[in-house]
Amino acid sequence: MFLLKLFPVRGEKYYNIHRTQRAILYTPDREPAGERMKITIISDNTVYTKGLKSEWGFSALVERENMPTILFDTGADGSVLLYNMKKLHIRPGNISAVFISHTHWDHIGGLESFLNINNDVTLYLPEVYAPKTGIKETVICAEPAEIYTDVFSTGLLENGEQSLIVNTDKGLVVIAGCSHPGVRNILNVSAKFGKVSALIGGLHGFDEFEVIKDLDLVCPTHCTQHKQRIRQIYPEISIEGGAGKVIEI
Ligand SMILES: [Zn+2]
Ligand SMILES: [Zn+2]
Repeated sequence: MFLLKLFPVRGEKYYNIHRTQRAILYTPDREPAGERMKITIISDNTVYTKGLKSEWGFSALVERENMPTILFDTGADGSVLLYNMKKLHIRPGNISAVFISHTHWDHIGGLESFLNINNDVTLYLPEVYAPKTGIKETVICAEPAEIYTDVFSTGLLENGEQSLIVNTDKGLVVIAGCSHPGVRNILNVSAKFGKVSALIGGLHGFDEFEVIKDLDLVCPTHCTQHKQRIRQIYPEISIEGGAGKVIEI
């Protein structure tokens, strides 16, 4: 079911900017989507695959059947983003949506470089931000919403950030940029769309470790300050991040 309703924003119509309206149906008993998913970390503070570049930033390619290929965040530096993409055999032209978690430099730094190669994309933003390069369509995710079938945004949460939620055959996978709204908060909002099974991305200063006890997978990377502690407490479910890491779910 496609729930997203797009509303032209007054004065912003010229730029083809829309806002999401709250997705009406919260379905915590949602069935897993029955789809497999692949997340490739393109840019990260550490390197997982030799030959790639690291930087303080985060970007990942999110792929699932029956979903447009999404670039989640763009790292800090376009040259690192495009270099790692090339090494990973990711073609910018195959990407049809860019989802920006928040407008900090280490997440939008590579955006212009990417758009210079491919601006035929829908850009999902937590709040208004206008790239210099023109773009097909911009959606401001003001509220929790289904942006594609079985793909959601938490909507704008505290500190200007949204997270991406993808339903798979294992349940919901949450991808977070820096988790500035707090992991507890992000997971609570995500749980309104179903059972959360995985959390991937930057967790910042997250230390309420019991909050993730029911997950099947956690990949604490980028700005996560307590990576070691999380691995110690949850060795069976924790996996390492880093540029080049591929997570198949
Ligand atoms: Zn960050
Ligand atoms: Zn940040």
